[in-house]
Amino acid sequence: MNENMLKVFSVTKSKHTIGTYRHKLLELTRKEDSSALFEWYKPLIYAPGNDVTAVFLASRISRFAAFVHWAAASGHSCDFQSVFLSAASYRKREPIFTYHVPDFETFHDSSHQARLSHIQYFYQKVLSPVFQQWCAIAGLPSRELWGQLYYQVPHFLELASARESDEVKHLLEKDWNYIKNDAPGKFFLEKQSPLHFHIRPILNPVDNSTTYTKPVCCLNYKRTKQPYCYKCPRLTPEQRQEFYQTYQGKKL
Ligand code: SF4
Repeated sequence: MNENMLKVFSVTKSKHTIGTYRHKLLELTRKEDSSALFEWYKPLIYAPGNDVTAVFLASRISRFAAFVHWAAASGHSCDFQSVFLSAASYRKREPIFTYHVPDFETFHDSSHQARLSHIQYFYQKVLSPVFQQWCAIAGLPSRELWGQLYYQVPHFLELASARESDEVKHLLEKDWNYIKNDAPGKFFLEKQSPLHFHIRPILNPVDNSTTYTKPVCCLNYKRTKQPYCYKCPRLTPEQRQEFYQTYQGKKL
């Protein structure tokens, strides 16, 4: 394992002693355990409701999902039974989550199928049941949480790729593309894959290059009482054009 573990994915092999929250990841598949996490986390991020809390948690746990991809591409599996989620909140700042993953194993069978089975297990038996609990607590459709993952995972994989061999980079891309585009709904305990989003190309107001809308809104506007951001899919084309013109005016 290399420095990507801590720096990119916030994963440690040794137990964190600091932290006000520490819980087995798999136990978040239980309603009471996830409800306790919401109760702890919600006031610390000044979330006005459980919807914002759920979306923020989905965004944070996406980092661990990216780690599972990276570990598999690097030839390792992890025992999800022993994974702990820890978080500490300092000086009323937003808590930072760390993942304690003590048990790694090297794949004996490093075939594409063995890697994918491990990744599938994570999505099907760990992440999807957790997302189901969070959606139920928040009263949100699951796409609102999967959209966070869709947006965050490639970001962390790109960061990790900078330190990896071409072979690992290739596997990261191949596996993520499969999960994003081809994995069937049953991977996510749904009829259809919740990862099919319509991302629209838009003009970057900074340099007029092409950028893209986010898959879903991150609901931060509810916390900060700010208007929607430029990439938010909730913005109408007219509102986005207005935003663009305002930014162009500021550049002059
Ligand atoms: S408008 Fe943008 S930043 Fe604000 S909540 Fe939506 S996606 Fe997030």
